Amino acid sequence: MTSILGINSSYPFTLPPLPYPYDALEPHIDQETMHLHHDKHFATYIKNLNDALKPYPHLQSLSLEQILCCKRLPLESRVKILENAGGVYNHAIFFSNLAPMSEKVNTPEGELLEAIEGFFGSFEEFKEQFSKSAADVFGSGWTILAADRAGNLSIRNVANQEVLLCEGLEPVILFDVWEHAYYLKYKNVRADYVKNLWEIVRFR
Ligand code: MN
Repeated sequence: MTSILGINSSYPFTLPPLPYPYDALEPHIDQETMHLHHDKHFATYIKNLNDALKPYPHLQSLSLEQILCCKRLPLESRVKILENAGGVYNHAIFFSNLAPMSEKVNTPEGELLEAIEGFFGSFEEFKEQFSKSAADVFGSGWTILAADRAGNLSIRNVANQEVLLCEGLEPVILFDVWEHAYYLKYKNVRADYVKNLWEIVRFR
């Protein structure tokens, strides 16, 4: 059983494989960054989440989404559980949210394109607003195109490994703007990384 995007349904969570080869996003994201980001950073969130849940059998049947929105997590482990569950959730979506350019999925179409045009004016205008938002993330975090249940779209930033799930918002796309996502290739120039992500983002 899997819940979101290849994450198995409950404890112990396992690292889903990268859905494309490590060099498939070159030259926009280099394969060394992909190895570190997926095999080390993402894997560490999975391991630390499992470690944090280990002492609590009553939490081990919950899905990742249920853990993230659980109101009664044990106080002494609450932060560790939420930070790592958020890291697992965000990274599972992020890696599935990218695709090699050859797949030609980096532009929205149909209903999603219409919604983006309705809320932001045009796809170009949306990209500009989203990129600006990504530049504004102070420290580590994510920029998200979020949809509510009625289909309203908004651009949101979250810090660290926070999620919007429990506000009833689903990520349509999300960009990881933690330095670990780009520093090897782009150094301090986050704007160039964000610009290049538009080439390899998956909209469908
Ligand atoms: Mn990351």
